[in-house]
Amino acid sequence: MSPAALHSSVFSRTWKPIIHLPRYAQILEVERWPQYIHARSMPVDFDPAADTGTLWAVHDGAVELLRTSGALDARPGEGAAPPEPVQGSLLDLKIVLADRLEAECQLCERRCKAARAEGKAGTCGVVETRVSSSFMHHGEEYELVPSHTIFFSGCNLECQFCQNHDISRRPLSGARVTPELGAQLIHEEEMGSRNVNWVGGDPIPNVPFILKVLRVVDSPRPHAQVFNSNMYMTEETLKLLDGTMDLYLADFKYGNDECAERLSRVENYFAVVSRNHKLASEQAELLVRHLVLPGHVDCCSIPVLDWLRENIGPLRVNVMDQYRPAYRAREHEDINRRPTTAEFLKAYNHAAALGHVGLD
Ligand code: SF4
Repeated sequence: MSPAALHSSVFSRTWKPIIHLPRYAQILEVERWPQYIHARSMPVDFDPAADTGTLWAVHDGAVELLRTSGALDARPGEGAAPPEPVQGSLLDLKIVLADRLEAECQLCERRCKAARAEGKAGTCGVVETRVSSSFMHHGEEYELVPSHTIFFSGCNLECQFCQNHDISRRPLSGARVTPELGAQLIHEEEMGSRNVNWVGGDPIPNVPFILKVLRVVDSPRPHAQVFNSNMYMTEETLKLLDGTMDLYLADFKYGNDECAERLSRVENYFAVVSRNHKLASEQAELLVRHLVLPGHVDCCSIPVLDWLRENIGPLRVNVMDQYRPAYRAREHEDINRRPTTAEFLKAYNHAAALGHVGLD
């Protein structure tokens, strides 16, 4: 039995079906290629030295063509190898644009314009990509596990209660990793995982690196790509991810800007993150995570769940109850405790009434 067939057989027999994420489920069954396979095998006529506006116009046209051509829905034949990468592909064009976006960094909506290629750190503190850890995760949503999580150091938000603050607040920790080594990490775990799960900290400051890994990774059974993020990226960054990511595992924390500003030190949160959830749902599949914060059910949980229902539809939302005070939470009276059972149930039952849970 080929490695791809063996992998498909193991997962289809062992795990319950994933009805609400049909395209992701098809990738697991090798009935569809991950999107990046198409982005790197699609030739695009572009001059890497052209001005940025011209390159974006070519990029947007190529993505539109990819989406309307039907290529993304093509079913691989029995035992078929994935399409070969080409030189001058849509993915190559995305990498040129990603490097430009990082040069005066505008990967996230802080748009701090740090000259990261010259060694300057931005507001998030990230200069070059550092990988904090890479391992098989068995404790996340059932659709994902086992999930090959690649944790980046550093984050563009500063959540006062961050449970990963040893990673997110230490952007210069972890190992320097080349794209080739990133691909090697994927190869080492590929037979045991359902996906590659880019996380952190946050993957947003590392999008150019991720695209470069996707250019060189060479798996017999290409993996679904999961972007596990706070979703505070720019529209440009989201456009670069379009055609490379299969699933957004998207955090939606706050229902208003005041809570976001005080507890994550970030402006204009709701407009940015709601816009990005909507755009992400149009380019890939979406699984939302919402962490119930103590004292924030009425101001955050309910508005977030309502917004998702009204603007995207019933979604698989993981309403999470594992909040505990961490990092600087003790400096904020409202979040210096665990949520009560009543608070969690109010959020969970509201999600259930909206149809956000029980989709499986
Ligand atoms: S990702 Fe970091 S360096 Fe880039 S704009 Fe955001 S805060 Fe600045």
